[in-house]
Amino acid sequence: MTEALRAPDLVLNGRFTAVDEKRYSLVPFEIGPGHRQLHIRYEYTDQIDSDPALFGGNTLDIGIFDPRGTGTGSVGFRGWSGSNKLELVIGEDWATPPYAPGPILAGTWNVLLGLYKVGPRGCDWRVEVRCDLGIAAPPNDLVRTGIPRRPELPAARAGWWRGDLHCHTRYSDGDSWPSEMLHAATEAGLEFLGVTDHNNIQHHAEYGSGGNGAPVVVPGVEVTTYGGHWNAWGTDRWWEFRTPESSAVERAMAEAAAAGAFVSVNHPKPFGPPWEYPTVRSIHAVEVWNGPWGLNSIAVGFWEARLRAGARLAAVGGSDTHLLRAHDPDPRHAQRLGTPTTWVAAGPRLDRHTILDALRGARTFVSASPAGPQLYLEPGGDGVRVSVRGGQGAAMLLITDVGSIAASAVTGVDEWTESYTVPRDAAYVRAQLSDDRGELQALTSPLWRRSGQRITPPG
Ligand SMILES: [Zn+2]
Repeated sequence: MTEALRAPDLVLNGRFTAVDEKRYSLVPFEIGPGHRQLHIRYEYTDQIDSDPALFGGNTLDIGIFDPRGTGTGSVGFRGWSGSNKLELVIGEDWATPPYAPGPILAGTWNVLLGLYKVGPRGCDWRVEVRCDLGIAAPPNDLVRTGIPRRPELPAARAGWWRGDLHCHTRYSDGDSWPSEMLHAATEAGLEFLGVTDHNNIQHHAEYGSGGNGAPVVVPGVEVTTYGGHWNAWGTDRWWEFRTPESSAVERAMAEAAAAGAFVSVNHPKPFGPPWEYPTVRSIHAVEVWNGPWGLNSIAVGFWEARLRAGARLAAVGGSDTHLLRAHDPDPRHAQRLGTPTTWVAAGPRLDRHTILDALRGARTFVSASPAGPQLYLEPGGDGVRVSVRGGQGAAMLLITDVGSIAASAVTGVDEWTESYTVPRDAAYVRAQLSDDRGELQALTSPLWRRSGQRITPPG
């Protein structure tokens, strides 16, 4: 940003040690009247990357609150950038993403510092604040512009739509702007896009509502705590991420759900980062497929254990795409949107509400890509009917809480359909599809049996 800076107007500093690990601290500072821009820079000792597999040093996250308050969901929250940037500008007219531009209110501001990881020597930190340097907004550097080309893809069943529920822009640790994500999502053939920057909501305004040839936007946030990540979709506010205790996470998820958001546990698998709140119950869905297949069978196992215990949880997937401009060296992240794709039965009219209704009704399946394969599971006769489009040669497995009840080879050219009876003692049934190497290609949300009745989709 800026090379030679004049002496800071304010310096905050301190030291964190092992007892501060995975804790957030608020460090207040005073701003007088009449300012138009803050430049904030921080540094700390023994810096290491936020990759959960790296240890031995410090990773210090930062966020900023203005005088309007530091409480959960407060409009005083100007943004959180994790450890992704060491320097930021918040001004009346522009701000470094993910921070919110707007008036530089006089009063007590707070730097939020979170010690994600601490090394053996502790963490000495220093924050410098400079007022009114007059730094101009950087020039627009959009690289994805023009009219995107939608690919030809196999048609979906009437009322079913394909999308990606998990991606990141410069409003957290991605490399592109919302308009570029929508451009890329259109070119991937997606019809909706869940937008889930980490602990921020500033991206919503820039995304807008989508549609008109672009994917429909489902506004969301990836609530990023020190014990795991969860997504809330259909929300326009941020949710509490600062307290890593299970009870606080349960409360935040329940509050989001009560406010109408659809919430999922994200990537509950090693290095996901994993989910360290096994007792939390206020969830609607599990992200059973995040990015490249890799360790996702562990996420499926996490989901299945809860299904067997009686929880009614939808299956969702997300590519977790971060980079559009470069190859992403992080093996956990997808290289492109729609890998995997989540399909929803939202009916004839696709908008954020019909998408959220389909998610709430667990009318979903997840496939390897926007091209499919498509896997439909529906009530039929005494049991269920399974239909596959584009999965010829794959193996279809029907799984219940009392075990696998059928395995079939998918044959034929266009659409393959088969009916199955479901044992009376099965509470639910779900389907999945694997290719000839055993690699998962698609899986459905379950159909549940209401006591003594036929297998039905949840209401
Ligand atoms: Zn995540």
